[in-house]
Amino acid sequence: MSTPPPLFNRLALIGVGLIGSSIARAARAQGAVGSIVATARSPVTRRRVAELGLADQVVESNAAAVEGADLVIVCIPVGACGPVAQEIGPHLMPGAIVSDVGSVKGSVVRDMAPHLPKGVHFVPAHPVAGTEYSGPDAGFAELFVNRWCILTPPQGTDAAATEKLAAFWRLIGANVETMAPDHHDLVLAVTSHLPHLIAYTIVGTADELETVTRSEVLKFSAGGFRDFTRIAASDPTMWRDVFLANKDAVLEMLGRFNEDVSALTKAIRKGDGDALYEHFARTRAIRKGIVQIGQDSPAPDFGRPHPDLPHAPLPKPYAADET
Ligand code: NAP
Repeated sequence: MSTPPPLFNRLALIGVGLIGSSIARAARAQGAVGSIVATARSPVTRRRVAELGLADQVVESNAAAVEGADLVIVCIPVGACGPVAQEIGPHLMPGAIVSDVGSVKGSVVRDMAPHLPKGVHFVPAHPVAGTEYSGPDAGFAELFVNRWCILTPPQGTDAAATEKLAAFWRLIGANVETMAPDHHDLVLAVTSHLPHLIAYTIVGTADELETVTRSEVLKFSAGGFRDFTRIAASDPTMWRDVFLANKDAVLEMLGRFNEDVSALTKAIRKGDGDALYEHFARTRAIRKGIVQIGQDSPAPDFGRPHPDLPHAPLPKPYAADET
């Protein structure tokens, strides 16, 4: 059986960190594009991208990267998207699709759209997939498999361009949904941005305690703390930009969160066990739902391997030969 032709002739990646390098690996593995040209801000990253063989060509400027590309994906922190759009605008090929992977969409549309010429299709995207690691070494081809990629085409975007980008994301394993940029930002404020803020807060609070030592916090972290530390280890630049760019939606969700914390505080103070039980039972059902729709593994403790029991001989009264 002959392999289908690639969806795009030439993919330009601007920024090759966790997300950009995962796209490169997946697009190549699936034959989604004819060739890949990549660039990154620093010579160190560009050199590493070349060493890893992630692209057919590594170039020094954003303008050079987009020349002749029919798909351009900007994979950099959201705060940097506007200036990059301004830089690439005059060099884009007519008919090209320009996209991004930013975790906030309203600000990206606001900052990028004005710089993109007529005849170029702007289809912003957000793959809801990631890890706490950064850089070109951190990516892997399977990152997007069975994860959602949300497309937020501004009103009036060519439907065929949106569908072509959707086909690209499906080919590299993602499920695709389309929504308005502002709605995306509200949804992600509660499912991603608020949880990150909570994790950053808890880990910071534990670090500043005076009555419990730092070494005790680390030693007994399996009580729950360590699961927050994974999220709180996420890239500081990326998350600074997310909170600056999605200020309104995050503040809205934070307001609701504070009300709920107050209600739980009151229940604890009043010794209202029923209120606490009812709340915890509801949240347990949410976890079950996430596992049921395949967005996480059912393995206990996130599937962490557990060490065997130590092989030391049993103390005298329990030893088998004593019975
Ligand atoms: P990353 O691993 O830190 O890589 C970021 C890339 O952007 C690097 O190539 C970096 O170049 C470049 N860059 C940084 N600042 C720049 C600037 N001011 N101008 C131009 N290029 C710049 O980040 P990532 O995790 O791939 O995230 C990239 C985007 O994906 C962000 O918008 C983020 O919101 C979104 N996203 C991330 C995740 C996640 O879990 N990480 C998930 C979904 C979406 P140098 O290496 O040369 O500095």
